[in-house]
Amino acid sequence: MGNKLTFTELICGTHLGLERQGPGSSEMTIKALSFLDALCDNPRIVDLGCGTGGQTMTLAQNSNGNITGIDQFSEFIEVLNNNANKLNLGNRVSGIVGDMLNLPFGKEEIDVIWCEGAIDSIGFEKGFVYWNEFIKKDGYVVVTCPSWLTDEHPTEIQKFWRDAGSGLDTIGNNVGIMQKAGFIPVAVFTLPERCWTDYFIPREEAGKVLLERHTGNEDVKAFIQNDKHEVELYLRCKQYYGYVFYIGKKI
Ligand code: SAH
Repeated sequence: MGNKLTFTELICGTHLGLERQGPGSSEMTIKALSFLDALCDNPRIVDLGCGTGGQTMTLAQNSNGNITGIDQFSEFIEVLNNNANKLNLGNRVSGIVGDMLNLPFGKEEIDVIWCEGAIDSIGFEKGFVYWNEFIKKDGYVVVTCPSWLTDEHPTEIQKFWRDAGSGLDTIGNNVGIMQKAGFIPVAVFTLPERCWTDYFIPREEAGKVLLERHTGNEDVKAFIQNDKHEVELYLRCKQYYGYVFYIGKKI
């Protein structure tokens, strides 16, 4: 019943009004930022998979950086640019539509690449290897990525992340990948449970509103059902996996 909704419409329909489009918080963004030293006066920061820019604004408010947010969805970028202007950050923050794997920058032009909750969709290794050339020596790549926290890897969790077009690796393997890609691992820490629930709760509300707008729509129902499964799985199995911050400094 009802019209077909594209995946983009479903994602934007449930995420456009949220401060963040994945687990994270300004507190954790600031904590990660505290590990970066010796940046120049006006560092050039690129925030990849920025969504509506929750962490972009935190980065701007806690650095002197000039920040470019990049996301594939123009709807998210529009919200980011409006928020930057509202917060009087429009002179240092701008969002553009683009692809994390096709960056419009030159070699060694960027001080910091930031990427919260998005590297897993292209692959941890692919991201670090491709981004290396854009980073200045002693610059940083900082990401969050869902990762295994234990050596036990239940197939149910594996299947969920694979079906979501992602995948989980262990923290140890990811650190090894960073090193091979030319980065010194500076810090690694796990996001607290609060970051997940602060994302899940408003997302559930947004799902209800979307369903009210498209009563009985099967696409919306299935999408919301999958979100519910994600929450249930997380609450039941959170000891095995979580979002992890990885901070690497280019050699
Ligand atoms: N950083 C935000 C959003 C995370 S959700 C936050 O933590 O709140 C992941 C985001 O990555 C989505 O907005 C999605 O559109 C974007 N994304 C995924 N693959 C992308 C790609 N190849 N290029 C650009 N953006 C991408």
